[in-house]
Amino acid sequence: MTKPIYGLVEAGGTKFVLGIASGKDDVRETVRIPTTTPDETIRAMVDWFLARGPVAAVGVASFGPIDLDPASTRYGHITETPKPHWSGTDLVGPLKARLKCQVGLDTDVNAAALAEYLWGAAQGHRTSLYFTVGTGVGGGAVIGGKTLRGLSHPEMGHIRVTRHPHDLKFAGTCPFHGDCLEGLASGPAVIARWGKSLSDLPADHEAHDIIAHYLAQLVVSMQAVFEPGQISLGGGVMGTAGLIHRVRDMAAGLGAGYFASSAKEVVTLPGLGDRSGLLGALALAMSAGKDS
Ligand code: ZN
Repeated sequence: MTKPIYGLVEAGGTKFVLGIASGKDDVRETVRIPTTTPDETIRAMVDWFLARGPVAAVGVASFGPIDLDPASTRYGHITETPKPHWSGTDLVGPLKARLKCQVGLDTDVNAAALAEYLWGAAQGHRTSLYFTVGTGVGGGAVIGGKTLRGLSHPEMGHIRVTRHPHDLKFAGTCPFHGDCLEGLASGPAVIARWGKSLSDLPADHEAHDIIAHYLAQLVVSMQAVFEPGQISLGGGVMGTAGLIHRVRDMAAGLGAGYFASSAKEVVTLPGLGDRSGLLGALALAMSAGKDS
């Protein structure tokens, strides 16, 4: 019996990464296409898959906000986004119609959390979380093998945090909340304060401790809510040398030994590195293929 072939879509605000795979260790081909207008990008995506022959199912790990309620008439549509032209775009419909297969959908971060649970750093943990700290801050969770959804998907990047005493003046970059976690600790928030990305600032620059101070609060908040066995911190900002250790140490200090497991054991970089997103799309496709 030949293995089923799946289509993978990691849909981001600046690029879509597409792939063809039969399994985690058999990603056969990938391509990046720029996120321009919905018409252009979605046509390029569908055409790329059509040129590669039939797939058993497609998994879409998407930027948000996106409607994930299967009972909604807008299921699979990007909802209100500040990204020009993309509000109301149907991501799933064109794939289903033209590729004639099941399409699994979730947020990019929920998908990445699922991939880490199946194949990465969260294997064996009943409850685990995945965060990306980059252009924005987003989080996903897997509990008992299922990704967490509420009325919509979680928006964990927008929690409130206590200010670092040396960071009281900056207004924050979140267009909705100003100084929420994303508004203080995302890549653009670092550049808005210090003119450079965190990894380009000297190791003794106080920005490292300030950003770690906010991410450590994220960690302990998540420990308080979920008592997760594992938390992956990924994304461009987490590529900064030493940041993961600062976050771990500060979070362990803030946790004060109260939680079931120390942040020093719970918090890691993603086991799948920068492949969590695309392999998340594979996990969604495999699951959609099973349901059909
Ligand atoms: Zn916010």
